[in-house]
Amino acid sequence: MAQTTPNILLIYTGGTIGMVKDFKTGALRAFDFKTLLDKIPELQLLECNIETISFEDPIDSSNMNPNYWVQIAEIIETHYNSFDGFVILHGSDTMSYTASALSFMLENLTKPVVFTGSQLPIGDLRTDAKENLITSIQVAALQSNNRPVIQEVCLYFEYKLYRANRTTKINAEHFEAFQSPNYPELAQSGVHLKVNSEYLYKADVAKTIRVHKTLDTNVAIIKLFPGITKALLQSILQTPNLKGVLLETYGAGNSTTEPWFGNLLEEAIAKGLYVVNITQCVGGSVIMGHYETSNQLKNIGVISGKDLTTEAAITKLMWLLGEKIESKVFKTMFETPLRGEMS
Ligand code: ASP
Repeated sequence: MAQTTPNILLIYTGGTIGMVKDFKTGALRAFDFKTLLDKIPELQLLECNIETISFEDPIDSSNMNPNYWVQIAEIIETHYNSFDGFVILHGSDTMSYTASALSFMLENLTKPVVFTGSQLPIGDLRTDAKENLITSIQVAALQSNNRPVIQEVCLYFEYKLYRANRTTKINAEHFEAFQSPNYPELAQSGVHLKVNSEYLYKADVAKTIRVHKTLDTNVAIIKLFPGITKALLQSILQTPNLKGVLLETYGAGNSTTEPWFGNLLEEAIAKGLYVVNITQCVGGSVIMGHYETSNQLKNIGVISGKDLTTEAAITKLMWLLGEKIESKVFKTMFETPLRGEMS
């Protein structure tokens, strides 16, 4: 079958990657993406057609929120049929949150959506931006029998391609800023681009894409620490309209067994609050009931977040709440892998 040239849409949302240094003043300023191909002539060597779209006001990703997630999803939805792959340039700080959210919002995705960014601006002499950008485009353009090889939301950074909803930012200064503690890399870039096909998400190509745009932000993350007070937990649980809570517990999902703790959670769950147990550990999984210190959580109906990252867990919670999933199936649905986000 003759190979057609893939069309790739590059979406710039903001972040360090899109900045250039004014060599006279030393100040960083946003890069004009319309001139991308002139500024990075190497892109013309890639065997694909590249078009670009930029947020009108690019943002530092610390200002990201679900309204912007919807904006990104809508850009992909509008251009879905005309492009073979999408590369999203995003600040690294909250990239794992946005990319995890998009993985849930884009149901039946059969094309690559690759998030990337950089630690140094694209105009910096020692920048990591060029390699991240060029390889992300190459990954998005990979085809086999005129079909994209990657059919999921992923994140490319410093020679590694990860499933996006398995990632977390682990370093504020190293070029290797991300990790996927509970799932293997999808590809490595060295002299060759090595794709680990056995770990890729197998999309159902017969289904059509469905874009979900409602996210409910009436959620909270409570990180346990030795000494946490009843007053603190009580005040968080009394937040008006609170619908879901992520409890960041110790180890394999353990918490204090002081009665006030279990009682407050039990009352809140009885009133309809969803409480999800995820671990503070970078790797590994919650196994409720493994220790006595997690038995009470299991018995009062706490949902197991298994080996979800915080980023995937909070965005899955916002999305399932936004979908208004019936309470009798909410727990089962949360505990089921829907986009390869949990083991
Ligand atoms: N603060 C920046 C951001 O997340 C850092 C980066 O671009 O990596 O937008």
